[in-house]
Amino acid sequence: MSSEVEWRDSYGELKLPFMGAAGKILDGNFHVDCPNCHKSTLRFYYHEFNKQKGTGTLWAWCPNCRVTTHLPRVEPGGWRYPDPFRAIDDFGKLEGRNADPLVGRLDKLWDEGKIGLPEPPGTQSKNSKPARRP
Ligand SMILES: [Zn+2]
Repeated sequence: MSSEVEWRDSYGELKLPFMGAAGKILDGNFHVDCPNCHKSTLRFYYHEFNKQKGTGTLWAWCPNCRVTTHLPRVEPGGWRYPDPFRAIDDFGKLEGRNADPLVGRLDKLWDEGKIGLPEPPGTQSKNSKPARRP
């Protein structure tokens, strides 16, 4: 993983493939190849913004080529994503607090095992560590 590559939003011809890939994650397919470099599976993070509606934003990114996208106002389909920021109401303030882009910080959280694979619908919530990818 190269640290010289800047995080960048998917744009142009990458926009739709990345939105499609993020949609697959939302549908419960958590091993989606990066549509850009095809050298890594995408990582992801979901944060609930509207507790009443049960909707939030899903971020997806490639740790290799560092292209990212996000899907706002989506439902997680019952999956419970690990979220260390669940209790933070003003999540938007996290972005831009320091020089690191939000996704760069999320990628570190993934490496630390604080975010990752969600628990499937219907399971009891427990404080288990999120499952890690091999
Ligand atoms: Zn990639």
